[in-house]
Amino acid sequence: MKFTQPRLPYAPDALTPVISPTTIEYHYGKHERAYIETLNKLIEGTEFADMALEEIIVKSDGKLFNNASQAWNHIFYFFQFSPDGMKEPSGRLRERIDAQFGSLDEFKKKFEEAGATLFGSGWVWLAADSEGKLFIMQGKNAENPLTNGLKPILTFDVWEHAYYLDYQNLRADYLHKLWDIIDWDVVEMRYGE
Ligand code: MN
Repeated sequence: MKFTQPRLPYAPDALTPVISPTTIEYHYGKHERAYIETLNKLIEGTEFADMALEEIIVKSDGKLFNNASQAWNHIFYFFQFSPDGMKEPSGRLRERIDAQFGSLDEFKKKFEEAGATLFGSGWVWLAADSEGKLFIMQGKNAENPLTNGLKPILTFDVWEHAYYLDYQNLRADYLHKLWDIIDWDVVEMRYGE
């Protein structure tokens, strides 16, 4: 198998009460795992077999794109959390957020709104262009800003499987609570600080 599922950098119960161990068991243990396993099967013996995952995402479509992107998106999602991470951004990223959105709270509100109003399954993204300009983007299903030439730096999964066990239909509550476990140190590193 070419792509292996990375182990989480925290214990399954480390993100409670925001994300329960049961959600980790299903979302990370079954959903993420299945995307990676399907991806491996789909690329075997094809021109995609030797490509990096990011290259597969920008060069594929259909079922392969869906599984490659979902594999990448989930790995990216689970690695931005920590029970004791940096609670607020600082430095260059913080300056950008304040300049473009007014304040960190205003940014969070807009980001949550983008997640809450995305119809159906998908992801809400914070991405940056090569100049460091920030974009809040809604992505349907497996969509990822890499296909627009942008660098993803933060994402909230708004597929029902991400929140239904813990929040039932209350997607907005889930989005609001996720900030409590975001490690801004990770987000800043992604931004290029
Ligand atoms: Mn998911």
